[in-house]
Amino acid sequence: MSARLGFVLHVGLRGLCPQCGKGKLFAGYLAIADQCAHCHADFRAADSGDGPAFFVMFLVGAIAVPLAFILNFGLGWGPVISLTLVGIVAIGLCLALLPPAKAILFAVQWHERRDEPDA
Ligand SMILES: [Zn+2]
Repeated sequence: MSARLGFVLHVGLRGLCPQCGKGKLFAGYLAIADQCAHCHADFRAADSGDGPAFFVMFLVGAIAVPLAFILNFGLGWGPVISLTLVGIVAIGLCLALLPPAKAILFAVQWHERRDEPDA
């Protein structure tokens, strides 16, 4: 694992500034702050767009669909109970995974843009 990947995962999983790794990235649940309170890096130019939602949806779907089949057909719990439980699990996973996914993609974008020659 490269040092940069380790740093991106470190700041992403903790919601920290991708520049200094000390200030907070988020001003709310998913709202990116305007700037870092520690190093004053300007976050307004960077935007991770729909990337975090896509990756979280892809991952949660890969977990939820087999889980629904296992609960309904494997354990015979019936569609109402199976889909209710899977829905709760899927919503919980999405809410838990969106902030770190957004912070990781933001940090990747932050470091990739910094390396561009005309940036
Ligand atoms: Zn900072």
